[in-house]
Amino acid sequence: MYVNIVLCLLLFGYTNGQRSYENYKVYKVLPTTDKHVQMLTDLQKEYDFWSEVVSIGSDIRVLVSPEKDEEFIKYTAGVGLNATVGISNVQDLINAQMQPTVGRSTSLGSFNWEQYHSLATIHAWLDELQTMYPGIVTTVNVGSSYEGRQIKGVIIDFKSGQRGDNPLIGMIEGGIHAREWISPATVTWIIKEFLTSTDPDVRFMAETFVWHIIPVINPDGYSYTFDGDRMWRKNRNPNHYTNCSSNNDLSNGIDLNRNFNYLWMTVGASLNPCDQTFAGASAASEPEAQAIQNYVLSLKRAGNLIYYIAFHSYSQMVLIPYSHLSGQNVLQVPNYAELYEIAIRGAEKLTATHGTAYQVGTSADILYEVSGSSFDWVKGVAEVPIVYLFELRDVGEYGFLLPTAQIVPNNEEVMAYFVEMDKNTRRLGYYSGSSAVYASVSLIVTIAFLMLSN
Ligand SMILES: [Zn+2]
Repeated sequence: MYVNIVLCLLLFGYTNGQRSYENYKVYKVLPTTDKHVQMLTDLQKEYDFWSEVVSIGSDIRVLVSPEKDEEFIKYTAGVGLNATVGISNVQDLINAQMQPTVGRSTSLGSFNWEQYHSLATIHAWLDELQTMYPGIVTTVNVGSSYEGRQIKGVIIDFKSGQRGDNPLIGMIEGGIHAREWISPATVTWIIKEFLTSTDPDVRFMAETFVWHIIPVINPDGYSYTFDGDRMWRKNRNPNHYTNCSSNNDLSNGIDLNRNFNYLWMTVGASLNPCDQTFAGASAASEPEAQAIQNYVLSLKRAGNLIYYIAFHSYSQMVLIPYSHLSGQNVLQVPNYAELYEIAIRGAEKLTATHGTAYQVGTSADILYEVSGSSFDWVKGVAEVPIVYLFELRDVGEYGFLLPTAQIVPNNEEVMAYFVEMDKNTRRLGYYSGSSAVYASVSLIVTIAFLMLSN
């Protein structure tokens, strides 16, 4: 093991313990034929694809080291595929992400949204909030990661002790994929807004629900993006260590968003530890996935759990469960039409904020088919009514390396969605748990919608 680690460090240019991406490029390619798709799918074993699934017409971004640059260009050109440079030096963007943006100052306590923050800083801020808002904010540890870190969050309850035995509950998850830094930056902003906003709609939403908010549910992976490899995605479970053609370190983790116990390993996931979408040895094998599953089930017992929202990047999409369903099959979700309507209305408000375009739909319809994700499990097993997965900014220009100047505008537009989402969720009767009536009405609406759109 030790030899492997040293070899790995030497081969992949780590400096000060951190992997260097100096002169790495991100190429943009657009497959237009089945041959392109096949060829790119083969290349996924050797390169870090920022797009998980390759299909005709999809915008594919591929991370290429300087050593393999020539080979990559030769290979793609050989099959008639035009590769253009999207990012000319990945390390420059990584360095830029560590610099705070200059502009409007934003802060709550010692925390701000002018920069991305380490796990330790985020966790310390959650503790600080408990001190700043006694009786309203309580920190909670929902479990431990593989490496023993806390999966820490806050409970926000403005009416503690006055809610009766069936309180309205919402849960928000961030940071399941380590390198998607904008996710915890969004989730922490929502915490701030719930605690400090004077907008009556935000106040209503904040105070009507007991909120359970966990900014980083993959704390090992997130920490590793700060002190090991900025482009790390999975957790840090090394029990499946093996030789990978591109980089052996890749096998030291499981994709937590393929590990949840709902239709595990049926589509869009891998049993190869060298893959970014390695689903683990069995369903819910990972402590992080187990912790979230158990916590969601405990919230189901504690009251009326209405919301579960998960945050990822990038693509600018609001995804509706289930991720293996497309076309008319989406109607298998009993309240699909309402989820769609709520999301479309929310996305309109989101776009109206800063002009950012978002798509709405199931993953299989607008992104790719996936199984074992947390939000599908929450919908399919815990049967929570309002469940979404956000793919935040951008659409590939910076990808996972979104500049710090975009944190606040990204967060503001997400809040606009949240407010509109809550208005419509209430209008459709979910607060009183009477959504079944609307589900049947909405089924008719959806059928009409599908007939019109075909
Ligand atoms: Zn993700």
